[in-house]
Amino acid sequence: MQNNRRKTMTQFFDFTNKVVVITGAGGVICGELAKSFGKQGAKVALLDLNGEAAQKFADEIIAEGGIAKAYKTNVLEKESLEAVREAVNKDLGTVDVLVNGAGGNNPRATTDNEFHEVGLSAETKTFFELDKAGIEFVFNLNYLGTLLPTQVFAQDMVGKEGANIINISSMNAFTPLTKIPAYSGAKAAISNFTQWLAVHFSKVGIRCNAIAPGFLVTAQNERLLFDENGNPTPRADKILRNTPMGRFGESNELVGGVFFLADSTLSSFVNGVVLPIDGGFAAYSGV
Ligand code: NAD
Repeated sequence: MQNNRRKTMTQFFDFTNKVVVITGAGGVICGELAKSFGKQGAKVALLDLNGEAAQKFADEIIAEGGIAKAYKTNVLEKESLEAVREAVNKDLGTVDVLVNGAGGNNPRATTDNEFHEVGLSAETKTFFELDKAGIEFVFNLNYLGTLLPTQVFAQDMVGKEGANIINISSMNAFTPLTKIPAYSGAKAAISNFTQWLAVHFSKVGIRCNAIAPGFLVTAQNERLLFDENGNPTPRADKILRNTPMGRFGESNELVGGVFFLADSTLSSFVNGVVLPIDGGFAAYSGV
């Protein structure tokens, strides 16, 4: 299955000499995307606050004969982004594809309870106890953390043939999940911003689309999905019941959708879409 998928990718997608800048590239999803772009001939710039994590993936790409460079970057600091843009332009060339992948939730912006009820214990972190700084952190990381890299890197995309931007939204953007109001709101803002950018840049040849991954098990949601003994939590059971395909996704299952959106021939007229890659979650009413 894996080998067949690789064969198909090689056959259909060729990013030779395309400069692909990926933020959050030290993470589970974007590390996988970076390696996949590397295999298809792209020159990959891996940006992450965690420079070591980005370096690890860059090393893997290089070890397989690809071209990659890691840059320690804070997507929330414009000076950091501008310095990295200059370095990328010098090392690899100007960007063709920007993947805005840095993002995530924070426990300070997560309630303990799904529904508010009378008589909850004093220890319960309800909506009323959510921390303002935690909520700001989540909004900033997801929304500003997409807007600022776009401001910096899209300057080099104006008028560059085939240039495009791919954001990472979420299932939360279509219908909010319980417990995580800030993350849901921030990802809804990402979907909205994707459409805004698609329109705004439509006259200068930059397409902008997003993917909305369904449920994958990663470091940031593991605590919500499995208990300390590794058994699925009631929340994980609920997710699986509401995913018609009945399983969690794997990060490599996002690659085909991202490649399609990034490929300026295959998706040349696709602009402003948010593509769910979710095993049917967004299509299912639960009944
Ligand atoms: P991850 O935590 O594995 O990766 C996120 C990466 O972003 C980390 O390497 C982290 O160091 C980096 N980062 C954090 N703050 C940063 C900053 N200020 N500047 C630069 N880099 C920073 O998460 P992931 O699961 O791979 O998620 C990647 C994207 O996909 C995120 O936008 C996430 O919200 C989204 N997403 C994930 C899932 C899922 O199920 N895992 C589902 C839908 C959407």
